[in-house]
Amino acid sequence: MFIEPLNWKANQNPRTGWIEVICGSMFSGKTEELIRRLNRAKIAKQKTQIFKPALDQRYHHENIVSHNDNYIHSTPVDHSSKILESAGNCEVVGIDEAQFFDKDLAEVVNTLANSGKRVIVAGLDMDYLGKPFGSMPELMAMAEFVTKVHAICMVCGEVASHSYRLTPSQEQVLLGETDSYEARCRRCFNLGDTVSGKG
Ligand code: ZN
Repeated sequence: MFIEPLNWKANQNPRTGWIEVICGSMFSGKTEELIRRLNRAKIAKQKTQIFKPALDQRYHHENIVSHNDNYIHSTPVDHSSKILESAGNCEVVGIDEAQFFDKDLAEVVNTLANSGKRVIVAGLDMDYLGKPFGSMPELMAMAEFVTKVHAICMVCGEVASHSYRLTPSQEQVLLGETDSYEARCRRCFNLGDTVSGKG
């Protein structure tokens, strides 16, 4: 489990910011972990705000909803520059589904952290082909803390880090996860359609 660094804000003025990345495949609990960290900051009366890309409309428009129905209020934005405009006096900034943002996201996150904010970014590290997804590789390189969370392979029960697509679509962005994807380990991901978790 991620433990917040000691001494944050301890008499430091201006305080330093930093970047945390939570990454992994689908069904790995990224959003739950993002919500856990933000809720703890809120309990400590820190000013928090969460952003997500406006294109992620799977669930309720204004809320980040994770799969265990733990939710937290979030603001949909259509470009990463809007995060800079809106984050204002926040001490902690959360960003969900980071892989779907435009390519300016890494620079936006860097700017926020440089201005003294704690920035927590959650996203898919790989797309359905197993390739690095969007700005995630850059964000992982720049972050002070990277947490890779895992799912369980739906075919064999091993640790899963891949998102296997069950439908023939070739779009990189395909929303609506439970029906269209399985979490798979490396071996079962490579075996493709010759194995199935449905049987
Ligand atoms: Zn497997």
